[in-house]
Amino acid sequence: MEGGVKVGTLTDKLEFNATCPKCGRPVRINMGRAMSTKRARCSSCGSNFSVKFTGDDPRKSDRAIDDLKRSLSTKLNIKL
Ligand SMILES: [Zn+2]
Repeated sequence: MEGGVKVGTLTDKLEFNATCPKCGRPVRINMGRAMSTKRARCSSCGSNFSVKFTGDDPRKSDRAIDDLKRSLSTKLNIKL
């Protein structure tokens, strides 16, 4: 990723399980990458889809990460 990514190491390690909107298979999403690129890629079918975090606001990112540290029950809105 160009320019470096401003995410913490803990964030880098956080991953989420989601369902690919195209093939329906489980997809492991890296949170740090998803937050910076807003996209994820399915390793099964190779399709790219956008990932939108609930409360997707840069000013709320820090708080969102804090919440994630306490609970991994993050709500993801995934749409093609
Ligand atoms: Zn897929």
